[in-house]
Amino acid sequence: MKLYTLGCAGWIPGKNETSCFLVEQNNELIMLDAGTGVSNLKYHLDVWDKYDSFSVILSHYHLDHLIGLIYLPPFLKGKTMKIYGPGKPAYEKTTEEYLNEFFQTAFFPTPLKELADKVECYDYSASDFAIGDVKIKVNQQKHTSPSFQICIDDTLVYATDVCFEKDAWNHELKGNVLLHECCEIEAADPTHTTLTNLMTGIRPEQFDNIYLIHHNPEWTEDDWAVVEEKIRGTKISILNDGKMIEI
Ligand SMILES: [Zn+2]
Ligand SMILES: [Zn+2]
Repeated sequence: MKLYTLGCAGWIPGKNETSCFLVEQNNELIMLDAGTGVSNLKYHLDVWDKYDSFSVILSHYHLDHLIGLIYLPPFLKGKTMKIYGPGKPAYEKTTEEYLNEFFQTAFFPTPLKELADKVECYDYSASDFAIGDVKIKVNQQKHTSPSFQICIDDTLVYATDVCFEKDAWNHELKGNVLLHECCEIEAADPTHTTLTNLMTGIRPEQFDNIYLIHHNPEWTEDDWAVVEEKIRGTKISILNDGKMIEI
């Protein structure tokens, strides 16, 4: 499995763009979320051009995870795009209905179905599914609107926009890499995760590496220094855009 980091920031782009990762696994190309990090796709055309078809898995519909869909058209000629989102029953409408609203002509000139040669939308709701030979497990999380943890082939776990609750966390979950949001250092947040949550709530033996993503865009240099000091000597590290991780 190869993981490419296109957007490691939360909410507002700055040093990093917002949520977007590319995963290559078993001849499938999967985009995890489509935030402003899609703007970094131009640096990964060697990967992108190998595939006639790709899948986008949306963790939820907040705009910092969705806005990059409108940056995709220059890259979609001859492509089939499959979009998997949390539709019913977690939400009132299907993925296709939400995205058709997002792509209404008052907001963007090209309708969803005309973005690529072929556009297919699927609701993953609360059930696991497969993309080709790649197993995808999803788990609903507590957030302002439901978000989903996404686990790819029991290897990579992507957990963002989640209020970390030690009791809700799957302590049996195993994987090589965990990408987990970190929006606060210590102050409790009812919709997001703190560094303290991760350091005290996750057994280190669950993963080989834990990477902090969806960083708080309001962190100062002093805040970053505190984070770096706290994670020194642990399995936790800060992830930035422009990296390729072989898993
Ligand atoms: Zn977010
Ligand atoms: Zn969110």
